[in-house]
Amino acid sequence: MLEKRKFYINGEWVDPVEGRDLEVIDPSNEEPFAIISLGGQADTDAAVAAAKTALPAWAATTREERLALLEKLLQAYKARSEDLAQAMSREMGAPIDWARSAQVGAGSWHLQGFIEALKDFTFEYEYAPGEHHIREPIGVAGLITPWNWPMNQVTLKVGAAVAAGCTMVLKPSEVAPLSSLVFAEAMEEAGFPAGVFNLVNGDGPGVGTQLSTHRDVDMISFTGSTRAGIQISRAAAPTMKRVACELGGKGANIIFEDAPEKAVKIGAIKCFNNSGQSCNAPTRMLVHRSRYEEAVEQAAAQAEATSVGPALAEGRHIGPVVSEAQFHKIQDLIQKGIDEGARLVAGGPGRPKGLNRGYYVRPTVFADVSNDMTIAQTEIFGPVLSIIPFETEEEAIAIANDTEYGLTNYVQSSDPERCKRVARQLKSGMVEMNYKSFAQGSPFGGVRMSGLAREGGKFGIEEFLVLKAVSGWEA
Ligand code: NAD
Repeated sequence: MLEKRKFYINGEWVDPVEGRDLEVIDPSNEEPFAIISLGGQADTDAAVAAAKTALPAWAATTREERLALLEKLLQAYKARSEDLAQAMSREMGAPIDWARSAQVGAGSWHLQGFIEALKDFTFEYEYAPGEHHIREPIGVAGLITPWNWPMNQVTLKVGAAVAAGCTMVLKPSEVAPLSSLVFAEAMEEAGFPAGVFNLVNGDGPGVGTQLSTHRDVDMISFTGSTRAGIQISRAAAPTMKRVACELGGKGANIIFEDAPEKAVKIGAIKCFNNSGQSCNAPTRMLVHRSRYEEAVEQAAAQAEATSVGPALAEGRHIGPVVSEAQFHKIQDLIQKGIDEGARLVAGGPGRPKGLNRGYYVRPTVFADVSNDMTIAQTEIFGPVLSIIPFETEEEAIAIANDTEYGLTNYVQSSDPERCKRVARQLKSGMVEMNYKSFAQGSPFGGVRMSGLAREGGKFGIEEFLVLKAVSGWEA
């Protein structure tokens, strides 16, 4: 059993003042394999105090000083790649090859993106003759992250906060906390001044709420469920701190009659990747009637071809879902799909054959889904695809927008004019067309119940800044 009870506060690994033990469960076999400590108010206070003390000196550092440390962090992060991959594989079930490439790779990609963005970021400018604007770090930031893309989320927040000149307290997900402890070691190795970065483990009602309500925390950057985003926003209101929320999604993938041949297969793969545990997963596939039956067959075939297995097995497959709670939630939603009359064409309730222990879910495809069904409206967060037919472009757009979420929508068509027309009408922070991936540093974020924050590159840095207008500024 790994013992990982310590927190990283003020440049040192310290014992919790009022910690409670929590076992970290390996979702591949349901066995506890590590123990962390859930901190209490005294631990949160110590971390926030360290960040507050470190703030004036850190906020006054130059661009060059921050860049040098970010470069060192990137090197330290890369040097710990294998440890990070192993940690994520055990704590959240990412297949080891996927953990090494996608999960670890996302973190270095974002850190590099912040380095590039910081190089020519405009912190000060002349607005009008004699009027100067200064973009200052907002202060002490509380960073609260989820378990599904642990390093993706942590680097998006820490990289931006560092670049902006903020100090911070990270509270990673208590479900998948181990990779963040490795990340904290990389921060230490990079040589950040004491107190700039602090880590306290804890849960939502504990450290999460203590950060959200803390008088000395100036901002919360949160990624997670819409439920928790609402609670954090409420808890933060009396102290008027900024709350940046990156929340859930229920992305539509509109497949027009002129979409490339492989559009359905790729869409299904993107839905099942990471065992369906991505906020931007294309979980509702909207298919033009002329290609509908063919698409249902292709998606079902892809589900059958997707193998499921333990995270530490090498090779291409999907792993378990993260926890017992998620497993049961997904099973209930699959049953609900059947009960509400959707046509099950692949997968279904229960575990895949031969896997009796571990939170394994069968890659599942429902056809004839209507958009008012529970499975079309709820973020399932498992490998479950819902296919919905449409007749016209207007109808497709209306179905895509008929959701409380608005994170990423997808469009597949070989008509560029149609693509642009549809992209403008979709209510989401991102529209990915013909599976063209986004550039480094492009803004990640949503609208409506997916939250309004933007992360990545210069857009991410901006979230951690406040604008000061100064008049009478003589040239
Ligand atoms: P979650 O909301 O349960 O937990 C996320 C984090 O918030 C954890 O660290 C948790 O301890 C903390 N937390 C929970 N309740 C809290 C409270 N009341 N106050 C303060 N902190 C609290 O989410 P999860 O299950 O870890 O992650 C899955 C969710 O994250 C999904 O909904 C997914 O769509 C979303 N997500 C969104 C994005 C995005 O960028 N939009 C990216 C990844 C994941």
